[in-house]
Amino acid sequence: MSEYLFEPAPPVSVEIAATDVRFPVNRIFCVGRNYAAHVREMGFDPDREEPCYFTKSARCIAPSGSAIPYPPATQNYHHEIELVVAIGRPGFELSLDESLSVVYGYACGLDMTRRDLQVASRDSKGPWDIGKDFENSAVISPIRTVEEIGHPARGRIQLSVNDELRQDSDLENLIWSVPEIIAHLSGLYRLEPGDLVYTGTPDGVGPVGPGDRISGSVAPVGDIALAIRN
Ligand code: MN
Repeated sequence: MSEYLFEPAPPVSVEIAATDVRFPVNRIFCVGRNYAAHVREMGFDPDREEPCYFTKSARCIAPSGSAIPYPPATQNYHHEIELVVAIGRPGFELSLDESLSVVYGYACGLDMTRRDLQVASRDSKGPWDIGKDFENSAVISPIRTVEEIGHPARGRIQLSVNDELRQDSDLENLIWSVPEIIAHLSGLYRLEPGDLVYTGTPDGVGPVGPGDRISGSVAPVGDIALAIRN
């Protein structure tokens, strides 16, 4: 058997609430522009937008409660609170009725974004990677199982920075619902256990800086916290 040139990176995993078992992360899919009021604040027309996807490396995962450094190369580092879907079974070309059967559970997530780099990429019709896919950009709470909380179709989604409310909406305002996203995404990819789907953020996104404390929640999924180090 051949040896590795160097030690492979350790597997990335997420806590599952109230258990000692961890959820191993495979891929991270993200939905852009999925709340009408946020689509408008970004300067687009929600009625005419197809679902829009981008991906992050599993290595971007940071657990809720982390204190992370301010990322390099940005002057406009934004918070986006999101419902995250954790996939527990394989799924390909799923119908709307089948789609929820592959969901293991849900978490509360932060799609941290270098907005200046994302907007520059978008405007030059380039890929979004440098604005979205960077260290600690996929913050996630412990996963709650479907067994425990079902499939939340409504519930408050809110985020504060230093205790000041910035984002406040409801999951029922998703343009593309969780079943619709999973069904659609499974026509583009063969979904696998360990895949995570960040489902998009409501309006109220904005910048954070060194020393700021982010706290948020998605009802009934849970809370999330993140500190930006000085
Ligand atoms: Mn997002």
